Amino acid sequence: MKILISDPIKEEGLEKLRERADIDIKTNLSKEELKKEIQKYDAIIVRSGTKLNEDILKQPGNLKVIGRAGVGVDNIDISTATKQGIIVINAPAASTISVAEHTLGLLLSATRNIPQSDRSIRNKKWEKSKFTGKEINGKKIGIFGLGRIGGEVAKRTQKLGMEVLAYDPYIPDERAEELGVEITNKEEVIKKSDFLTFHMPLTDETNKMISDKEFEKMKDTAIILNVARGGIIDEEALHKALKENKIKKAALDVFEEEPPFSSNLLDLDNIIMTPHLGAATYEAQQNVAISIAHQVIDSLEGKPVQNALNLPDLPPSEMEKLKPYIDLSEKLGSIIAQTMTSQVGNIEITFSGEISEENTDPLRNGVIKGFFDKILQEPVNFVKAPVIAKERNIKIKESKIREIEDFNSLIEVKVIDSEEQMTISGASGAIFGKGEKRLVKLGDYTFNTKIDERMLITKHKDYPGVIGKVGELLGRNEINIGSMQVGREKPKETAMMVLSIDQNLDNAILEEIKNIEEIIEAKFIEI
Ligand code: NAD
Repeated sequence: MKILISDPIKEEGLEKLRERADIDIKTNLSKEELKKEIQKYDAIIVRSGTKLNEDILKQPGNLKVIGRAGVGVDNIDISTATKQGIIVINAPAASTISVAEHTLGLLLSATRNIPQSDRSIRNKKWEKSKFTGKEINGKKIGIFGLGRIGGEVAKRTQKLGMEVLAYDPYIPDERAEELGVEITNKEEVIKKSDFLTFHMPLTDETNKMISDKEFEKMKDTAIILNVARGGIIDEEALHKALKENKIKKAALDVFEEEPPFSSNLLDLDNIIMTPHLGAATYEAQQNVAISIAHQVIDSLEGKPVQNALNLPDLPPSEMEKLKPYIDLSEKLGSIIAQTMTSQVGNIEITFSGEISEENTDPLRNGVIKGFFDKILQEPVNFVKAPVIAKERNIKIKESKIREIEDFNSLIEVKVIDSEEQMTISGASGAIFGKGEKRLVKLGDYTFNTKIDERMLITKHKDYPGVIGKVGELLGRNEINIGSMQVGREKPKETAMMVLSIDQNLDNAILEEIKNIEEIIEAKFIEI
């Protein structure tokens, strides 16, 4: 096996690779050199420096595996890699402990004024009373996002005597119970916490999740930490909250723009900042190198790897038949994740008609992949999707029914609430004509509408003029409507409207829609 290393990785990873393969380290290759070189190797290991775009991957020669020593894969054209049969692998969990520890560092630094008092001593001052801090023992910490890092922060802060509250609608209650954490809604966590810490990805839903309205509700003694992604906290609103003493302090490792040299946060003394240091430890980099080395070797030896990011491994004939249904399954998973209304319990999938006689494993994994894709930071793949569901104690129930009316095949997906065992989100889809994926049911309402990239979904009172009001509002904001369908049970009761739109809908416009008198709920979803 021949492996090319085109960005530097830690020696411990190189050692693992050398045990099983011939490796060449060639950094700073030009595009032309890289294009020629990759053809000679079975695998390439990169960090963020090497760009593997379509042009480079279209003549892959021997290349079978790309290993990304880290999380983000923006520098790799996964779709071209997939077309060329190249497996793309990353190493997302290697820095979990380092990031959790950095969070603790910021928490203690903020509450005990460590950076500020260090600056004061250097100015030959001895300001003991000015820097009197607070104990963290017995205080409440609110964790947003109880995934890998959030979970480790929960365990560590509990050991320090803190009480943990958490907000994460995409984990079942069992995970919170295992961690001994009280899981509740966003408002409660904001209102009750002495410390608030963020450990979720930056998504449409989390973008500026903490802004003026949320700062108003926080305790004026609250300390807020962000070691996840810049943008989750609205920095303009944070500046205002800190300046007007609406909250006590902030500590940030990540920023809307990095480095944040033009940010007005730099003018404040009640904020601590570190330059995206969460994963910057020797151990995290060593773990990344070892993890990617193991996975690349396993993959080259034909063994399954947990962090492979592309399509399931199916024979071409089966792939051709199943591909539209795999895509449909992923889209339905994404729709139910974005429309659910309370804590996830289990997911139920029913395959009816002809599709029930096929191998539905990749379809089931497609639903789970689609569900987690919008929720987790790193891309989820078909191998890892069921593992993630299992880790989170989300049970996946699959049924098959041969008999069906109206369609050749139908896929129905439901999220069942963890407490009440009620359906909190449900979507059914079918394939029409030459592979068009259509939504045929959403919640209790029947539709027949193409599943588009961007959709506005409203639940509203079925009165004359509502559709016009929404259409007028979108038009006024220059949002073009591609298609629109209304589903309802009985006239003059509740109805649901699904609009496909050409542009993204920002929060301000969505708020305006929600403010229309007859609108009960409105959601913008992106597939
Ligand atoms: P993870 O995927 O294991 O956990 C993320 C959690 O966020 C999940 O449990 C998910 O259900 C939850 N979540 C998603 N959307 C949510 C929402 N709208 N409301 C509440 N919860 C929501 O990820 P992780 O490995 O724990 O990483 C967490 C964050 O830390 C990511 O943003 C990652 O990019 C960031 N990170 C930062 C650094 C750094 O250097 N500062 C290093 C590594 C990771």
